[in-house]
Amino acid sequence: MDLLAGPCSAESWEQVNQTAKFLKKLGVGWFRAGIWKPRSGPGQFQGKGTEALDWIETASKEYQLNSMVEIYKGEQVETVTQKGVKGIWIGARTTTNPFLVEEICEGLAGSSLDVFIKNPLAPDFKLWKGTIERVLESDHQGKIHLIHRGFATYAQSGFRNSPLWDLPLAMKKEFPKLKMYCDPSHIAGRREFIPTLCHLALNLEFDGLMVEVHPEPSKALSDSQQQLNFSQFEDLVSNLKTPAKEFQEDDSLTHVRETLAQLDQTILDLIGKRKQLVREISKHKKQHNLSLYSHEQFKKMLSIWRESSNKDTFDAEEAERLYRLLHSFSLEWQAQSLQD
Ligand code: PEP
Ligand code: MN
Repeated sequence: MDLLAGPCSAESWEQVNQTAKFLKKLGVGWFRAGIWKPRSGPGQFQGKGTEALDWIETASKEYQLNSMVEIYKGEQVETVTQKGVKGIWIGARTTTNPFLVEEICEGLAGSSLDVFIKNPLAPDFKLWKGTIERVLESDHQGKIHLIHRGFATYAQSGFRNSPLWDLPLAMKKEFPKLKMYCDPSHIAGRREFIPTLCHLALNLEFDGLMVEVHPEPSKALSDSQQQLNFSQFEDLVSNLKTPAKEFQEDDSLTHVRETLAQLDQTILDLIGKRKQLVREISKHKKQHNLSLYSHEQFKKMLSIWRESSNKDTFDAEEAERLYRLLHSFSLEWQAQSLQD
């Protein structure tokens, strides 16, 4: 299992040097640090640029780590290669844009840098596959690897980016010769979730992990909520060596399992009844030539769900996620019944 780790952004020589020195002791192979940071909003820290390449290279040589940075332009291939960088990653926002990817491929001609391709922001299988194919078909001479960093969603979910594991697993099947890494930091958005995501990724046979580590995450200039401090990363690595025991079902859970199965049946019956009502509504809409979707109605129902959530069981955010899911089914059922 390969470990790629380092701060979200290179912030100072001390931070880079201290982190690289620590990571080497834990068996990390690739030292990652962002120098050009794609930030969602204006006015945020956008990285230290080429100045930081010197810090990264000096530290990586000193501690014999392979260095990797994110690039978003073809011309940056030469800049980073001249400084001795060993790998680049194409970030989620760049993978999304075929023009930028083509330009990067031109820059990669003849290069032996390792290229790590993150998934695009949206769960668009063809777009990610297309970027991989573009790099494979280019004159790039080095290795190619993939990184699963989750997918952006509007509706709040527990994670910053939803993992949608089926998609990276299908991509792994599509390109069995390429290593697939998991970036739990950008999936989680919160450091508490990182150990669970790492275990899950390894159980799903990912080839390794890319984890953000910072000497003092609360002072980090980017992604401070999701970076691990040194002792948290050390704990993570030692727990990965002794994975949790495979879950074994025993008799003590039989009763709970039976109750769960009955509850699930009740839920399915109720959703079935709801589906019938939804179809009635859509027939009415069809007869009166009304549009299927009413945003007013959607907002009204959403607030009913949020308000009737019960803090002891689930909160308003969870109620909203459930309602959005159910509502997306309702729309499908209404569309189907128009065809009846
Ligand atoms: C990063 O790795 O720091 C980064 C910006 O990643 P992503 O492209 O996955 O958002
Ligand atoms: Mn980051």
